Amino acid sequence: MSLSILDAARETPDRIGLVIDGASYSYAALAERTRAALGWLHAKGISRDASLALVGTLRLETIVLLYALLEQGTPAVLVHPRLTGPERASLLEDARATLFVEDAAAEAWSAADPVLARGADAIEAHRTLAILYTSGTSGRAKGAMLSRGAFLAAARASERNLGWQPDDRWLLCMPLAHVGGLSIVVRSLLARSCVVVQAGFEPEAIARVIERDRVTLVSFVPTMLKKMLDRGWPCPPHLRAILLGGAPASESLLEASKARGLPVLTTYGLTEACSQVTTQQRGTEPSFACGAGEPLEGAEVRIDGGEILVRGPMLMSGYFPKDAHPDPFLPGGWFRTGDLGTMDAQGRLHVLARRGDLIITGGENVYPVEVESALERIEGIREACVFSLPDETWGAIVVAALVAVDAQLTDAELSSRFQERLAPHKRPRRIAWLSGLARGAQDKLDRSRTAALATPRLQPLRKE
Ligand code: ATP
Repeated sequence: MSLSILDAARETPDRIGLVIDGASYSYAALAERTRAALGWLHAKGISRDASLALVGTLRLETIVLLYALLEQGTPAVLVHPRLTGPERASLLEDARATLFVEDAAAEAWSAADPVLARGADAIEAHRTLAILYTSGTSGRAKGAMLSRGAFLAAARASERNLGWQPDDRWLLCMPLAHVGGLSIVVRSLLARSCVVVQAGFEPEAIARVIERDRVTLVSFVPTMLKKMLDRGWPCPPHLRAILLGGAPASESLLEASKARGLPVLTTYGLTEACSQVTTQQRGTEPSFACGAGEPLEGAEVRIDGGEILVRGPMLMSGYFPKDAHPDPFLPGGWFRTGDLGTMDAQGRLHVLARRGDLIITGGENVYPVEVESALERIEGIREACVFSLPDETWGAIVVAALVAVDAQLTDAELSSRFQERLAPHKRPRRIAWLSGLARGAQDKLDRSRTAALATPRLQPLRKE
């Protein structure tokens, strides 16, 4: 396995490595373009010891530029295309890259002299392959330095879990600035298999591409899968795995997937661990809500005071720049994820909540995701977001923002559904109906923004 597109072109020149905008590119064709990009990097003075920031749009030129950086061993700083001007400026200031490429398609590579061969020296595993910024869901985004060795370890673990096949085709529909997106490019290059790109998440287009381009592997966050199911997606038989992670999956989503026979594998991962840490094994019973499978090869998971700790070769080297951040590792190399979870007797991880989202009401722990899952099973409720309000008697009370399917349920109907499904301390004491929930990167529920929207509209349920 090498991270070199030039090696890949020598080994499998005619194999298709990339399908994008309806066009297919063989490894030989990709290598030819990469040579031009390498010439352009050389002309710009970007060596292995520099770093290049680029906007991670899903375009041929961006992916080719990435291949060139991988070939040279130059770290890539991936900038999310949806960042606002000030967010982007702050990221670029933080990352201190040698050069910033805003639009790879606009750079004149063809004018550069192509580099025909790569220097023979191997690139050390400790070198940074990419700096990826965490989504910032729990505060300011931080740049995680992920080495080549971390990507290789994560790729080996994924290979063991999925059993890569040469004719695999992995759908890439999330920006390269997400570890899940970048990993698809890196893993497919290592496997000499194919990436099928479909930018933007429009369910009909995604379904069409999966069918037409014979996609075998997809990585979805739960909202994406829900959108596919809501549109009655007929999952084709050639799709052999749907990796489902990045956020909690509700029980109703998992049940609907099971009923449709979808090859869902739940997974838990994070940027700092180069994507997946645990994943459900193929051929095992579909997971229940919160279940995120077993630690992948090389990954160790431990629960400390309720918090999930992770250790292994796929972990980041640290946040960039190292001197501006406290050492993020505990003695022994363990990383605190900030997520709460448990391990069951079968060695499977259950992800319960982010530490900051846990609600303690009258001394009882309430996990918002569990309550949301129960609420979303009530007929008439499309989506739910559970959070808390301070309360003198209980310390905190559970409240919920709800989105109706059509007409809003009456207070009496809600009260009786809550009583049927939720223990008293888990029942929302106030509710607000919204037209939609606030979502952030990768469509993840933004609990604090939703709470800010809903709080002024919260009402206790009226007794009739
Ligand atoms: P930031 O770290 O900046 O707050 P973020 O946590 O969203 O942002 P990511 O690295 O993109 O950054 O996402 C990792 C997080 O996503 C995990 O820490 C966890 O909270 C959540 N997550 C991932 N997989 C699952 C899962 N299967 N179930 C529940 N939550 C998950």
